[in-house]
Formats: sequence, structure tokens, C-alpha cells
Amino acid sequence: MRRFSTLAPVLLIVALLSVTLSADEGMYPLSEIGTLNLKAKGLKIDVKEIYNPDGVSLVQAICDVGGGTGEFVSPDGLILTNHHIAFSAVTAASTPEHDYLKNGFTASTREQEIPAANYVCKITESYRDVTAEVMDGISAETPPVLRATAIRDKMNAIAKREEGGRKNIACQVSEMFPGRSYVLFTYRSIQDVRLVYVPPIGVGNFGGEADNWVWPRHTGDFSFLRAYVAPDGSTAPYAKENVPFKPKRHIKVSMKGVKEGDFVMILGYPGRTFRHKTSHFLAMQEGFTLPYISKRFDWLIATMEKAGMGNRTLELMFADDIKSYANTAKNYKGKIQGLRRLDLVRKKVAEEKELQAFINADPKRAAQYGTALSEIGRVYDAYRAVAPQELAYAMLGRTKYLGLALTLSSGAESKEPKAESVEKVKRTLAARYADIHAPVEAAILAKSLVEIADLPAEQSFLPGMEIPRGSSVAEREAALAAKLEKMIAASVFASRESLLGLASLTRDELEKHDDFILALSRQYRRAGEAIRERQRAREGELNRIEASLLDVKMAWRMKSFIPDANSTLRLTFGYIRGYTPADATTYKPQTTLRGIIEKHLGEEPYNAPGGLVELYASKAYSKAFIDPALGDVPVAMLYNMDTTGGNSGSPVLNARGELVGVNFDRAYEATINDYQWSESYSRSIGADVRYILFVAKYLGHADFLLDELGVKI
Ligand code: ASP
Repeated sequence: MRRFSTLAPVLLIVALLSVTLSADEGMYPLSEIGTLNLKAKGLKIDVKEIYNPDGVSLVQAICDVGGGTGEFVSPDGLILTNHHIAFSAVTAASTPEHDYLKNGFTASTREQEIPAANYVCKITESYRDVTAEVMDGISAETPPVLRATAIRDKMNAIAKREEGGRKNIACQVSEMFPGRSYVLFTYRSIQDVRLVYVPPIGVGNFGGEADNWVWPRHTGDFSFLRAYVAPDGSTAPYAKENVPFKPKRHIKVSMKGVKEGDFVMILGYPGRTFRHKTSHFLAMQEGFTLPYISKRFDWLIATMEKAGMGNRTLELMFADDIKSYANTAKNYKGKIQGLRRLDLVRKKVAEEKELQAFINADPKRAAQYGTALSEIGRVYDAYRAVAPQELAYAMLGRTKYLGLALTLSSGAESKEPKAESVEKVKRTLAARYADIHAPVEAAILAKSLVEIADLPAEQSFLPGMEIPRGSSVAEREAALAAKLEKMIAASVFASRESLLGLASLTRDELEKHDDFILALSRQYRRAGEAIRERQRAREGELNRIEASLLDVKMAWRMKSFIPDANSTLRLTFGYIRGYTPADATTYKPQTTLRGIIEKHLGEEPYNAPGGLVELYASKAYSKAFIDPALGDVPVAMLYNMDTTGGNSGSPVLNARGELVGVNFDRAYEATINDYQWSESYSRSIGADVRYILFVAKYLGHADFLLDELGVKI
């Protein structure tokens, strides 16, 4: 492994003021780990065991996989992650005859493991500050569009240059603070990932959407995967002769468990937080973006559920989309509630008033930063006016037929050798086409088109699309959906074969091709040019103003800040802890098997597998799975660590760096974490490793897994 260099940009900001970091929240970048005095907080191993710039440490056992996090738990590339992270691979592998989603899946031998197509596993190898190179030639005077474009282009060019065509390596430049700090991350990338063990849905998603984002929780949200590489150790797509990847470090499992107050920590890849944003951003989230998206996703879920009812093949086809829409919709409702309950926008406004007073108190500061806040306000006022158009555009971009058309056009524009690009396009089209159900897609497309037609005239961007009349929006959508279904049936998109036939067309041929979906995609791309230009201008303006706002905020608060989550590797630490989320409600931090039996109704969403219910009644299981203090098998745990989406699947480690659980969710009140963390309501949820292994052993008969983990029962 290359040595990790220090995370200079963050340190630079620390150095600017040379003050200690606030320990009240934090998704700490690797460079900060040494500064946290974790020993005083409860850590019982040397901090170098977690992260060692000169050697092997736990960091090398953590990977970014399937949109979340995974951890190597054996020397043979075995990865522990969440059921909801493996979910797409499980649904793709399931059929009504082999329903792994419903019944679970155990690969008793390596040969039985199933490829998880499109899953890539990435391990952080090194990082380096590239701020100077990214910001070179950019000044406060650089016009906004140019600024945004130049920054993005440089970020991509640096990543590409550093990757240098090496297939084992993926590079990415991540923005830590807009306009202030950019870091190049180098990842070891692995393309062959396989399913090893998946619990039945009645364990992996026990409680379903009713319990999602909820404590107390009884979900065994875990799965095991395995990473493979070519026999020479290089990265390769799935091939029979590939061999298990040997990680530099794997995490040891502890069956000793946890209790309230225990020190715990998480290493993982948190996706996105917005804690450095202003009141203007929050107001827009609360007033527009969150309600819009959660309402739209609710509609999408209802549409797919209705279409899939009673047809297992369709249910399996929609399962993945429904799950992810439902997850986001509920999260956003939690955020809306949190924003209101905590009165966050008003509090931010008050805080900004104080900041403005601090700025105004010094003439030099006033000259430099005096208009920053009002300028941001102006940017958001303009944004709010066009947000309906931008979201309508984004929603149209998600429709699946349009997605196929866009795959065709980007393939036709590809600079790769023609034969290679055609093959790639065909593969992508075939995979995506398998997920398309024409009546549902027609309904979704109709919704988007009616929405666009109803935008104010100057924002509407699809002229020529005739929308049927009707007395209500729903009626017009239904009439258009029926019309679109017929148009799709007559289109080249009606069959997989005719669609694949377009993969070899040149750009010009595709442009001229007479098909309504291709025509729609042309209009969509044309409209996108103006929209993207405006977005880039906004991005450039915010990049400039937020950068200077950060400087003055640090001077005001006399402290440095931790960068918002951005899918790069972070550490968070805290304690196993219950909480009091509402009047007269106090929660303990651990749940047990008894709770599953209490909730079990024999139907969704509380439908535990029969084997589990019988096992509990018979008590025919080893004492090793029982927590002596709880007198039962522990199922889930609650802690006050700072996590967000992307931390799904992260290991929950005890003070000795051993795995005691797997993080998978947050409590409802903690969905607001992404805007503001608080000890009083920020609680995350993990599955206890004793329950994980209990399920694997007794329901999955996967004793080999326990052997591989070195767990002796
Ligand atoms: N379950 C969550 C997710 O789906 C994890 C989290 O956000 O805390 O993203």
C-alpha cells in the first residue's frame, strides 16, 4: 500500500486557527483520527490500529460497495454488509422458482456463490491534497459558469491522469469544502463480487417499511458477499477462474457483545450531509424539495405496487425500485418533521444574523464578507423560481425508456473503438430492458410529461408533445399513459431485439431515426443544455461565496470544521445509548429475539420465518448467542454515532476494534442528522453480530461462515 499522506486541506483549515476540533459531532476524515484523543474517550487499542499512515490498519478492511459500506471479515475476501445493500443482487438472482429474496440464499461451496452483477468494491489506498491544482487560475473574478466548469473539469482530469489507465485503480477528486479544499482519493477497485449468504426477507427486512427508520428495531439487515480477483491478483470482471481477494486486513468478530455506555466506533463511507449550508438551503429543502420528492416517490411506489399485485415476477422486478423509493420518501418525511420540530430554519436565520453582526463589526471584514449571506440569498431566490422545472427535468431523466435512449446516444458519441462501445451499449441496454414493464413506464412517463406541460410557459421545455385534455391532472395522466402505451408498442423500443439493433447506429443515424422516444430524448437533451448552464452558474456562484463564508465562520466561531460527508472514508465514534425522542417515551438501546416473536404476525411486514419462531420456542440453541445481561439473543443496538446513508453496512467496532455489529439505519428523529447532529436525537441502529451469526447458523445452516470468521461455538 502506498503511504497515506496527510489530509492537508483539512489540516490547513485547522492550522489557520490552530484550535481544537469540536467533539460534539463528526464524520472525521482519516487525517483527524490522530487528533481526537480516542484513548480518553474509551478506545482500548493504539489509534494506529485504526489508521496507520505507515502500515496496515483497520482502514484497509473497509470497502465501498453497492452504494454503502462493507468490511472484510476473513482473509478470503468475505465481506459483511447489509441486506439492503445486497438487495439488488438478490432480486436480480431471484425467480419465482428460486426465490432467494423470500427464502434467503446460502452458497455452501464457493462454486455456488452467485455473481452480484454491477457491484464494485473499492478500498481506499491513499489520498492527497490537490486543492492548489484544482483552484489554479481561478479567482473571485472568474465568471460563475467558467468557475464551476473549470473546477469539475480539473477534478475529472486529475482523477483520470492519476488513474493512468490502471485497471486495479479508481481515482476520484472529492470536494471537501467548496472552493477551499479538494482531495484526490485513490482506490483499489474490485469488479467481481458474489453473493455468499443472504437471510430470508422475514429476517433481512423484518418490519419492512413500517419499521424502517424506526427504533425499537428487530431487523437482521445483513448479508455476506465475497470479493474475487484474477489469479494474478489483478482486477477482473466475473470469471470462473477468479480467486478470492486477500485483503491486507480483515476485522475480527467479537461475541462478547455490548451494553449501554460502551465505547463504539464506525469506519465507513457516509454519503452526503449538508451541515455547512445556509438557512436558504434549508428553507428550500423544507418548503419544496423534500415534499416534492417524497410525494412523487409515494406515487411511484403505489403505481408499481398496484401493477405487481399477485404477480411474483413483476413484484420481483419492482422490488428494488420500490424499496429505494420508500426508503427515501420516509427519510424525507422524517426530515420535514425534524425541520419543523426543531425550527431549524428560524434557528439558522438567527445564527446568520449573529454572523452578520460579527462581520459588520469590523470594517475590513465588512468589506470582504459583508454581502456574502445576502448574495447566497439571491442565488436561492432565483433557484426557487426555477426549481419546479429542474425537478420536473430530473424526474423525466429518470424514466426508463428515456434512459435507454440516452444510453444509445452516449454510446454513439463514445470515443472508444466502435465494436467495443457497441458491445457495452448492448450489455447495458439488455440489463436495463429486463427491468422495464411497459404499462408502468407509460404511466410514469405520462406523469412527467403532464407535469412539464403544466409548468409556466417560459419553463415548459417539451413543445410539440400533445397532452390529452381532461378535468383533472390524474385524468389527463391516465389518458396520456394509455396513448403512450400504444405508441411504445409501435416503437422500436417495443422489443429488446429491435432496440439492440440500434446499438450500432452512428450519431447522425440516431439523430435522424424516426421514433417518438428518440425524438423525446433529443428534446430532453436540448432542454438540458440551458438547464445545465444555469445550474453551473449557480454552482460557480455558490462555490465562490460559500468558500469565503467558511473563512469568516471559522474566524467567528474560533474553530475549524469537519467537511460534510461526501462518500469518502470517515470515522465516527460514540457510545451505546438509549434516548428519549418524545414526551413520556424512553428507549433502551438493545432489542432481543423476544421482540421479534412479539411483533410476529405471520404476515408482512412482520412475518418472521417459521424456523426462527420454532427455534425460539424450542430454545435449542447455543448459549454463545445469548447476552447474559439481556437473558436473550440480542438483535439490534442503538448508539449516538454520527452516520448517514452510505454508512449502511459499516462495521460497529468495540473499544478493541473488534466487530460487534453492522450499522444499517437511523432512528426517525435522526434523519435530520444530515442537517444538524444532536446528542439528544441522533441515534443510529446496527444489527448485533450475535444475531447475525445465530441466523446464519440456524436458519442458513451456514456453519462454514462461522468457521471462516474464526468464531467457535
Ligand atoms: N438505512 C439507511 C439508508 O438507507 C442508512 C442511513 O441513512 O442511516 O441509507
